[in-house]
Amino acid sequence: MRAVCWEGREDVRVQSVPDPQILNPRDAIVRVTSTAICGSDLHIYDGFIPTMQRGDVLGHEFMGEVVDVGRDQSRLRVGDRVVVPFTIACGACFFCREDLWSLCDNSNPNAWMAEKLYGFSGSGLFGYSHLYGGYPGGQAEYVRVPFADVGPLKVPDALSDDQVLFLSDILPTGYMAAENCNIRPGDTVAVWGCGPVGQFAIRSAYLLGAERVIAIDRFPDRLALAVSGGAEAIDYSRTDVPDALRALTGGQGPDACIDAVGLEAHGTTLDAWYDKAKTSMFMATDRSHALREAIGACRKGGTVSVPGVYGGWLDKFPLGAAFAKGLTLKMGQTHVHKYMPRLLSLIEEGRIDATSIITHRASLEDAPELYRTFRDKRDSCMKVVLSPGASSAHDAAPGEMAEPGGGSR
Ligand SMILES: [Zn+2]
Ligand SMILES: [Zn+2]
Repeated sequence: MRAVCWEGREDVRVQSVPDPQILNPRDAIVRVTSTAICGSDLHIYDGFIPTMQRGDVLGHEFMGEVVDVGRDQSRLRVGDRVVVPFTIACGACFFCREDLWSLCDNSNPNAWMAEKLYGFSGSGLFGYSHLYGGYPGGQAEYVRVPFADVGPLKVPDALSDDQVLFLSDILPTGYMAAENCNIRPGDTVAVWGCGPVGQFAIRSAYLLGAERVIAIDRFPDRLALAVSGGAEAIDYSRTDVPDALRALTGGQGPDACIDAVGLEAHGTTLDAWYDKAKTSMFMATDRSHALREAIGACRKGGTVSVPGVYGGWLDKFPLGAAFAKGLTLKMGQTHVHKYMPRLLSLIEEGRIDATSIITHRASLEDAPELYRTFRDKRDSCMKVVLSPGASSAHDAAPGEMAEPGGGSR
């Protein structure tokens, strides 16, 4: 089969690899109909995620049709159409029973690596390094899904792939980020980063009762989409964010702050340049400008929610400010399994439109070009959906060549 493989920093290639096989009795094999490139895939692309190996198949946002099941598969049948959570969970351990699916104790065969780094290991993840289990990902024609009697969500035929694909990660991630804010009626929530997770966090904050959401980014198209979701916009390249937030909240600060940026934050202030210099010399692992600013801006007694990905050790982390202001910090990989059914209902009721963030559609074969387009935020790229079945822009007959930038039709 064809699959998107990591071959090194800024080097992904579409290659032929062996078809996945059923390895365990609860497995299923899914033929992928749609898969997306995630902002967190860019952390791999840029070389920030350790324990990647050449040839690893990428991708953790995917859906498709079940084409084979193991002998103990009690829930899925060949032909079922499913969306698969990016977190792999057994369904039976302490953490799964507590609804803490991304902390499953039984799905990371390389738990010893994470234990060395973090004390304990979270769940295995599709296509996200050997630290998280080394599972081949879903940017491929086929994928093996472990514990397939627990994770995959069957979706109604009436809904298109575009409508439900993001149940695999970013929609639940944005929703959990907002839920972690403990929003009460009348609250103001500020969101750093208006990529896909930020967009869904904005919409989820309103669904959960926020009165105002303030969105912070520097790309006009991303801010415009945030505004169309009801947010007020701050362009951090032109405005001092803490001052603006103070002015917008009567001097008190937002009740909750969401860092939907994560470890590769950009910024224009001194600490942001310091981070960039240090990480580029490998003297630090994470650039945390957005998180610092969120902690500084949040009102006393408020909540800082962190759906953005962090991997290692933070430098210049303002724990003193968090302590002095009595902040609550909430974070972590998304408990996707917990949120999928309720978000599917919201999609069916038309209360969440997940399709508005898609800017690029292409064939799997075009993945290398689109990784670069997305990373460089060229062509207003916000979200790339790849279809393994579609023909590549490069296969187009003369006269039908795609626009430069690929797939933005
Ligand atoms: Zn993702
Ligand atoms: Zn478990």
